[in-house]
Amino acid sequence: MTSPPDRPPAETPAGGLGPSPACRCPTPWPSLVTVVEGRTLAAVPADTPGPAAALYRARCGTCGTEYPLPWRLARPHHHAA
Ligand SMILES: [Zn+2]
Repeated sequence: MTSPPDRPPAETPAGGLGPSPACRCPTPWPSLVTVVEGRTLAAVPADTPGPAAALYRARCGTCGTEYPLPWRLARPHHHAA
């Protein structure tokens, strides 16, 4: 498999206009968020799902559509745990 390491997250899921939910924003998936223990955290698209993806769901930060592709938690800029 030859996939570039840095590709835009505009990839459509298999099936295209299938039953899977799709972001309806002008720019698909302008941002992703996930709610972990009641706190909204930033998420980013990824080639493989991160540990949090197995436990939580990511959604579009604008329209709230559930993100159907692999994602990971974004690196926090502050508030280190
Ligand atoms: Zn959206």
